[in-house]
This record gives sequence, C-alpha cells and structure tokens, in this order.
Amino acid sequence: MAASLLIEDVDAAYGAVRALDGVSLKVAPGETVALLGTNGNGKTTLMRCILGLLKPTRGRIAATIEGTTTELVGRSPEEIVDLGIAIVPEGRRLFPRLSVEENLLLGAYRRSARAAIPRNLEFCYDAFPRLKERRSQPVGSMSGGEQQMVALGRAVMCAPKILLVDEPSVGLAPILVARTIEKIAELKEKLGLTVLMAEQNFHQAIRIADRGYVLVHGRVEFQGDSPAALGDSDLVRKFYLGL
Ligand code: ATP
Repeated sequence: MAASLLIEDVDAAYGAVRALDGVSLKVAPGETVALLGTNGNGKTTLMRCILGLLKPTRGRIAATIEGTTTELVGRSPEEIVDLGIAIVPEGRRLFPRLSVEENLLLGAYRRSARAAIPRNLEFCYDAFPRLKERRSQPVGSMSGGEQQMVALGRAVMCAPKILLVDEPSVGLAPILVARTIEKIAELKEKLGLTVLMAEQNFHQAIRIADRGYVLVHGRVEFQGDSPAALGDSDLVRKFYLGL
C-alpha cells in the first residue's frame, strides 16, 4: 500500500532567519511531486523538517503509511526513518573512503532494516548493476553519476515507503542528470514509492513529476497540477525559462 505525506501551514526558521512561511503541500500515494525553486528558497529546509532534523515553529507534518497516520513534528529522525521515510540528501553525503557496499549498508543501520539487508542489497544491485561490479571500490574514486546511484541505493536499503530526494542534479553533467532522474522513476515504480523531489532543474524534474510546487522565499507561490500547468506558469517561465 503506497504512502502519503501531508504538510500544513509549516513555518521554520534559523534563528531570526525565516526559511519557511506557511507551506502547505501534499504528496498522494504513489505520486512523484516536484518541489521547485532556485537556490535558498527553502527546499532543503522543508526536507529537513519532514525528516525531523529541524523542528517547524508552526504547522503540521503527517505521513500515512500502511493505513496509519503519524504526526512527524517532534519525532526524532531515527523514528521517522523507522516509519519508512528516507532521504537522498543534497550533495549525496557519502563516505568516500568506504566501499560502495559499505556505504549501501550504512543505509540499513536501523534495526528495523537489518533483517531485510540481503533482499535490499540484491534489489540495489539489480537496479544498479554498475554498483555490483564496483562493490569493493572506494566511493570517492567513482564518478559523480555513480556516486549519485550509491546515494539512491543507500536510501533504498532502509526499505522506504516515502523517498525524499534533495537536488539530485547538483554537480552532475546533463546526461547524468537525465539518467539519475530516470533511475528515480524506475525505483519508484519497482518499489511502489511515493516521492517528493526538490529540484532546480525544471525540465528534468517535470519529466517524472506528476505535479509540482514552486517555493519562493519560503512560500508556495504556485502549484501546478500537471507538468504542463507548471510549464505554463508565469512564475516558472520567469524564474526558470528566462521568458
Ligand atoms: P539550496 O538549493 O541552496 O539548498 P534551498 O531552496 O534548499 O536552496 P534552503 O537551504 O532551505 O534553500 O534555505 C532557505 C533559507 O534558509 C535561505 O535563506 C538560507 O540562507 C537559510 N538557511 C539555510 N540553512 C541555514 C542555516 N543552517 N542557518 C541559517 N540560515 C540558513
């Protein structure tokens, strides 16, 4: 059963800096939703709030997984991961001296994921044959695209139901961005995931997104109920497409 995410009227701040201002959005079961916005508009902050790394100063965040709705605000990141929510962080945050397999196994560090390690590792290697070939290689010696695959694989190792992906295109050549985006869509299909993806690369994001929201200065300034609606938005045209 696919999972869903609900965010209602969330504010968040870093000291005096207000980073989110009344953000509401939802991700329905099995959807891929794009969180669009240029640098510094609050995408990462929202991801951190969902994952329990930053406590909102106001608002509600709830996940419904296998029919049970859980309030996330006030829970620890560990509890939130155990519920079935995983993140592929911006910049990948891998351990460069550790091997591919060691990095993947770190994704299954929670007790809840340990029993399923053999199955999930096999799934990762099926989805990313290149990682199987390179399983003993230190991650720091791999290409950016391969490292992004390791980061995706690591998230999958905790058997998530909801996958948060923060700026997967950062630092990748265009062809690798396209491949990474396709891999996210493929993982989503195979695992029945619900996906919230923050992305600056509008064209790549809407290739796989069902819908999207545009964040500007911490507020949802536009929501498009289809990729076409997003492309037609004046805001998107102005910010992204230079029109
Ligand atoms: P990026 O792609 O650059 O990460 P973003 O859309 O994810 O952009 P955030 O990182 O969420 O944006 O930042 C939103 C706002 O909060 C920005 O004004 C940023 O400067 C500020 N901010 C982010 N992290 C911190 C922090 N640790 N301390 C103070 N201000 C911060």
